[in-house]
Amino acid sequence: MLDTWTAGKVNNNLRLHSHTSSERSNTENKSDCRSEVWVGNVPIGGEKVIVIAGPCSVESAEQVNSTALAIKLAGAVILRGGAFKPRTSPYDFQGLGLEGLRLLRAAGDLAGMPVVTEIMSEDDVAAGCDYADMIQVGARNMQNFALLKKLAKTDRPILLKRGASATVKEWLFAAEYLLHGGNENVVLCERGIKTFDSSLRNTLDLAAVALAKEMTHLPVIVDPSHATGKRSLISATAKAAVAVGADGVIVEVHPDPEAALSDGPQSLTYDGFNEMMKNLSRPPRSVWLYSEALAAA
Ligand code: PEP
Ligand code: MN
Repeated sequence: MLDTWTAGKVNNNLRLHSHTSSERSNTENKSDCRSEVWVGNVPIGGEKVIVIAGPCSVESAEQVNSTALAIKLAGAVILRGGAFKPRTSPYDFQGLGLEGLRLLRAAGDLAGMPVVTEIMSEDDVAAGCDYADMIQVGARNMQNFALLKKLAKTDRPILLKRGASATVKEWLFAAEYLLHGGNENVVLCERGIKTFDSSLRNTLDLAAVALAKEMTHLPVIVDPSHATGKRSLISATAKAAVAVGADGVIVEVHPDPEAALSDGPQSLTYDGFNEMMKNLSRPPRSVWLYSEALAAA
């Protein structure tokens, strides 16, 4: 497993593994050799876990402005929102396009938050860079090498989602395209993979989060919304992501999920998002220690 990858490490020809100061990005956290990626004024991969939230799709000014203010109040630090939507069916809502980018930017400015949005085509890279602080490469485009090469030539931080059927090795090589091409500001995102189990939309691969952190210096975050597809599981899986070492989570929030134009069943209400934020800060259950029990006896 990961034999080519290991060979690359030995040959020291993969930037994901580079540990010499000349090869490292200037955003590097030198104390532990991990990289911090700055999105506006927000560091990802630093001391604190960060939360990115917002609607799956930008639908209207009212919807995205209201969501931006609600998530900020609850503690989120980056606003997400899709303008170019990769939908399985061509008959489903495809996003507002450029107008969506404008509305997202305006909502971010209103709330004083940086914004992240998905770009699907090389043709939209310039527009994405004009309006967004971070560009998402979605799961379906993880191996769109032309897109990766073009994004590598920009200075925008990239949120690189793992493809639903991609191995960890393929995911990391996709990241390598960005670093090798000149953009070191890459954040990896585990968002669930396809497995034999159809109980949920995808299967959240938490071990891959720990593995990606072990194998690279890049920040890694988790998207429990797309990983589960189920609103009731998002708070618990977000907490598990933090427990396994994720540097942040990205979740979908909508003022009225039942009326959402995409991904309503996995979108949190404002109350649900508040509850998730509180849950993330609560300590996990303490471990019952046998030696303590003996001392008490
Ligand atoms: C999204 O973030 O709305 C999205 C479509 O994500 P993914 O690429 O992980 O499916
Ligand atoms: Mn979505």
